[in-house]
Amino acid sequence: MDRDHAIPTPDEVSPQRRAELRAALVAVRTRIDAACEAAQRDPAQITLVVVTKFFPAADAIALARLGVTDIGESRDQEAGAKLAAIRQVLADQSPRLHFIGQLQSNKAARVGEYADAVHSIDRAKLVSALARGAQQAGHTLDALVQVDLGGNDTGRGGARPADVEALADLIAGQEGLRLAGLMAVAPLGVPPAPAFADLAALSERVRANHPEARWISAGMSGDLEAAIAAGSTCLRVGSAILGSRPTRG
Ligand SMILES: *Cc1c(COP(=O)(O)O)cnc(C)c1O
Repeated sequence: MDRDHAIPTPDEVSPQRRAELRAALVAVRTRIDAACEAAQRDPAQITLVVVTKFFPAADAIALARLGVTDIGESRDQEAGAKLAAIRQVLADQSPRLHFIGQLQSNKAARVGEYADAVHSIDRAKLVSALARGAQQAGHTLDALVQVDLGGNDTGRGGARPADVEALADLIAGQEGLRLAGLMAVAPLGVPPAPAFADLAALSERVRANHPEARWISAGMSGDLEAAIAAGSTCLRVGSAILGSRPTRG
């Protein structure tokens, strides 16, 4: 309780951790700048979502204080609790929360209440539940269709490319949601560039009917350069900034 004794409160990280996060953030921003230069793109057009899953709220708070404006989470329970802790400390300065994980339909309304964006919409059933949550909270949720680029064998969710346009139409017509664009995870074990090119082509098709759906959420720690080259507007980077996670997620 006595702040003079410098006992770290739950919202504080050690000076070492803060320095580590700052250095990793600088390194990732340097990679983004270099990839943008190579692709002749403006880094200001790319949102960096820092994926904080499996790491404590204190890390997310430290990152926000280092200038991070957007964080990503993939599990409902963890995301909700962490966001509450973050908002208690940072209030209006809290980062935007992007939900990027596979979504169960019975959790969707809750996620729609606290999230600012949901990247992982891959079936019609989620749409009305997310919208109900968003409307309950009195906000509009940025909604992205997750595309399965690996022929359904990635185990990471995602709608089949043939189903994406219908799902986009459904979202666009739903009060409480704003169709923001498309998201994908590159298939494992093969070069990511062809998959990211497929995503960009699909995005262009969707934008023919929905010009506002400009986000292309693609690129993680290992493949952000390829994603930027293919037109990504939103990177989701975890381990390159926070370190390796205890388990795969
Ligand atoms: C965990 C996760 C990321 C971050 O992956 P890293 O390789 O740690 O950068 C990005 N997108 C999704 C959907 C994830 O689940």
